Amino acid sequence: MQFAVVGNPISHSCSPLLHNSAFIDLGIRGAYGRYLLDESKNFSALKELGLNGANITIPFKEVAFNNCDFVHGIAQKIGVVNTIIFKNSKLHGYNTDADGFFMSLDNEVKSALIIGAGGSSKALAHILKDNNIKITIINRSKDRLESFIKSGFESYAFEDYIHTPHDAIINTTPSSLNKILPMDKSSLQKIFESAKIAYDLLYGIESPFLRLAHTMRLKTKDGKEMLVNQAILAFEIFMDRFCVKYDKKALRDSMYKASLLF
Ligand code: NDP
Repeated sequence: MQFAVVGNPISHSCSPLLHNSAFIDLGIRGAYGRYLLDESKNFSALKELGLNGANITIPFKEVAFNNCDFVHGIAQKIGVVNTIIFKNSKLHGYNTDADGFFMSLDNEVKSALIIGAGGSSKALAHILKDNNIKITIINRSKDRLESFIKSGFESYAFEDYIHTPHDAIINTTPSSLNKILPMDKSSLQKIFESAKIAYDLLYGIESPFLRLAHTMRLKTKDGKEMLVNQAILAFEIFMDRFCVKYDKKALRDSMYKASLLF
């Protein structure tokens, strides 16, 4: 069985480490690599690679959704696919980011402010709403908010947002990759003042967003736990496709152990 993570850029992805660790520890014959896709119009080229399935990362998750023959579960509602399998020449799409994030969320969170309006924001917005968590979405540009407004989410461009308290503040933008905050510091400080916990979906780098939250004595969490959870759920989808049986606790233990390496 052959799988890969597909995106651009892709060299930083830790998904191969997680999945290959699981193949080795569970004694399953399989391999998981990285594939750099240069442009979205080349998405259909994936069919020629001989992969049995793949994980899709930035910037192709919405492209993946549009290219699937069948879309399953919460991915249908979100319009964003991060896991695909090939079955009888058809492409099946799933979203494991949403549940992966929710599994990593503290129980005490009853309301959340999501910063950013991209694919991961959509996944989080829907799973949090489905679990009765009150959410607001704010974004740098207005255009990206349209689909959120259509779906009935309370959504504002940064300049229109009047602050109200939320338990969790979640940065779904890649701002930390560029070592900058997702919005101006004084607005963020005001937002943090009444919050309990700050999340940044990025992992493995020092996040200015989490550093600021930490200085204001908030609990902080990066995206590593979400990454591992979404990988476990994707691995389960891959193995179900081939009716492979394995110990689910051993899968979890293997991926969490591998995540200590990054
Ligand atoms: P998208 O490209 O779909 O969306 C990015 C969003 O961030 C847009 O709303 C964009 O706003 C905003 N944005 C981009 N740069 C900045 C900036 N410098 N300041 C403020 N806003 C900015 O990305 P995704 O939603 O797919 O992914 C976002 C991040 O989350 C990525 O870094 C990704 O690696 C991470 N991620 C982590 C996961 C995990 O398992 N830990 C899973 C999924 C994603 P605008 O509309 O104004 O351009």
